[in-house]
Amino acid sequence: MSTAKNKKLNMTAKLLLVTLVPLIVLAVIVTLVTSCVLTGTITDQVREDMSSQAALVMGMYDNIYPGDYSVETHADSYYKVMKGSYDITGTEGMLDDIKRSYGDEITIFRGKTAILTTLYDSNGTRLDLTNTSAVVERDVYESGESRFYSDVELNGESYFAFFTPIINSDREIFGMIGVYRLSSDINHRIWSALYPVLLTFLFAFALIAVINLKYSARIVDRIKGIQKFLTKIAGGHFDEDIPEKYVKGHDELSELAKSGSVMRHELSLLVEYDALTELYNRRYATMRLHKMSTDGEYDFCMCIGDIDFFKKVNDTYGHDAGDEVLKAVAKTLKEGMVQKGFVARWGGEEFLIVFLRTDVKMASAQLLAILENIRALNVKSGVNIIKVTMSFGITEADGTGDYDSLIREADERLYYSKTHGRNQITSTYVTEINNAMDAMDRR
Ligand code: GH3
Ligand code: MG
Ligand code: MG
Repeated sequence: MSTAKNKKLNMTAKLLLVTLVPLIVLAVIVTLVTSCVLTGTITDQVREDMSSQAALVMGMYDNIYPGDYSVETHADSYYKVMKGSYDITGTEGMLDDIKRSYGDEITIFRGKTAILTTLYDSNGTRLDLTNTSAVVERDVYESGESRFYSDVELNGESYFAFFTPIINSDREIFGMIGVYRLSSDINHRIWSALYPVLLTFLFAFALIAVINLKYSARIVDRIKGIQKFLTKIAGGHFDEDIPEKYVKGHDELSELAKSGSVMRHELSLLVEYDALTELYNRRYATMRLHKMSTDGEYDFCMCIGDIDFFKKVNDTYGHDAGDEVLKAVAKTLKEGMVQKGFVARWGGEEFLIVFLRTDVKMASAQLLAILENIRALNVKSGVNIIKVTMSFGITEADGTGDYDSLIREADERLYYSKTHGRNQITSTYVTEINNAMDAMDRR
């Protein structure tokens, strides 16, 4: 039982694996590719945004305060930022306005030192005079070109940053404008775009897993049903056909079930029937009696019949004619037993007849009608008409289920019919009669 369950699990798991593994691989690939493409696209967009803001800041200062940038240092920590003849120290408010509109931090550097910035430290002080990294300074000032970075550390946080150099009219690089955006904001944007993709896959997984489990459970159930049926056949039980539900449809399993059903029929013919007379054979009769005995079905009468002087038929008309007689007798017995019980070829020209749910008196009467039909038979063999008679011994089941002793008893009564003129039925208890006859002989 547990093995069967394991097999079922194995097969269901395998079917599930075959479907889900490629889907998982596909999901991983699609997620990776999507996240790469999204990261690229969003990063490009951010770079564009930041570049426009840097240009905006540059343009705004040029418009309002025409002229070159310069710094006038007055004391250790006191300096003036000049643009042309204008003192632009303390114009961070303009940068704050842009920050409010776009959300990005803006810093103007002289060298690598911040001189105007929207950034504050944790104490609420503007981060003036702080330095950007030497790498950024070198990159921008050496190349004289704009630079974009995706991992600039600032104030303990990671930023995307864009730097563009401020070049005075003498082509000297005065400083640079830096635009910063929190990396977490960008990652959040990337994840927001990825979520629907992941959710779609999750939903597809769940759906496919449910469909797959249901489908594979059905397949495994059908395989188990067919296997159970074939095991029964292998055990020699041909009485029940495969349940209809396994044969329905036209797929491979239905075809397998149909083949199993045909096989059962063909095997039952081979194993349970006698080829010549098409009656049940001795194997079937024995199995049926055994089943009746184990089921406690004792309400029946057992009869053995034998064709009289059959050897003479063979000797006179030939073996083939004998076969024809056997077939005709079998057909008569079978027709006579319709809805009364069953008949089997017990051996040679001997037949076992079982009357179900009847007493010996009733069965004997029915048997007599059958005997009369046999007496009336005219079996043609060439120009000859062959006539036969039969002798029977019949007995009633005694409720013990011991069918061997019942057969023996029916046999003894058949013997009595044979030794007392044939062409008759004996249903009285033979031993009693024999004992009585022995007693008479002794007198
Ligand atoms: P009794 O009345 O005492 O039964 O005599 P009988 O001749 O019928 O009995 P016996 O046992 O002497 O002969 C039975 C014969 O049946 C012998 C055997 O060759 C023949 N026989 C058995 N099976 C077949 C068969 O399948 N076909 C044919 N044609 N003959 C068979
Ligand atoms: Mg005989
Ligand atoms: Mg015989």
